[in-house]
Amino acid sequence: MLPYKTIDEASAALGRPLTALETLWFNYSATKSDYFIYCHNILIILLIFTCAPALYVLLEHLSSLADNNKIQKYKIQPKVKFSLSEKFRCYRDVMRMFILVVGPLQLLSHSSVKMIGIRTSLPLPSLGEIAAQLLVYFMIEDYTGYWLHRFLHCNKWVYEKIHRVHHEYTAPIGHAAPYVHGAEVLLDGIPSFLGPAMAPGHMITFWLWIALRQIEAIETHSGYDFPWTPTKWIPFYGGAEYHDYHHYVGVQSQSNFASVFTYCDYIYGTDKVFLQLVLFLYVEFLF
Ligand SMILES: [Zn+2]
Ligand SMILES: [Zn+2]
Repeated sequence: MLPYKTIDEASAALGRPLTALETLWFNYSATKSDYFIYCHNILIILLIFTCAPALYVLLEHLSSLADNNKIQKYKIQPKVKFSLSEKFRCYRDVMRMFILVVGPLQLLSHSSVKMIGIRTSLPLPSLGEIAAQLLVYFMIEDYTGYWLHRFLHCNKWVYEKIHRVHHEYTAPIGHAAPYVHGAEVLLDGIPSFLGPAMAPGHMITFWLWIALRQIEAIETHSGYDFPWTPTKWIPFYGGAEYHDYHHYVGVQSQSNFASVFTYCDYIYGTDKVFLQLVLFLYVEFLF
């Protein structure tokens, strides 16, 4: 809830007129409690995991109806096919886990979000501030997530009891990005929360972080490696093919642990087998 009753009052406090976005934010949030605003998180998560993977399903379905090889040639594991009902089952299971585990956690975690200093107040952050914070969040999440993921594979008991669920899909699909054991949802939340905790920003930045991180995970698990995806322009970005290999190898996988970038696997030598395979395929392609 904002401490101003009118836009004029808010402008006077800021010492300048509100921007168009700040006016929108004022009109939406001025009378709503911080708790209510924070609870939008779960809606954002549910919305993204309903819409983003559905785009891949639609694309795949339409291309198969038209027998269109323009899309299918970018499928990373073309021999593996899932029916619509199998995809829906994955979506249903993920949604159930979101509602039973993530939802209650969101409802209970508002005090920690408030404590670390995520604000809903005016002024809104600049685009530069948002971009810098998102970059920091991605870097922190990637580095800590790398070690968490490596731990989930290195400890046999933890792998069998927890991480094996995520590896049920040896050829991942968008819906399977958050297809994990309930305990892993809680563990995965730690690297995601560390960035905002270390460099707290505005609630809008926090929402953008949640949205972009989920979209990135869905793209990485989509099973398609499209050459036109904008993420191809991001240096050291792993992408779908990189993480698909991790799933393809399955239980034995000791490679490609990083969730977003490739530098951790390079530094700690956990991409050697993958790079050898890429080199082998490239040489085979040439000759
Ligand atoms: Zn794994
Ligand atoms: Zn995965």
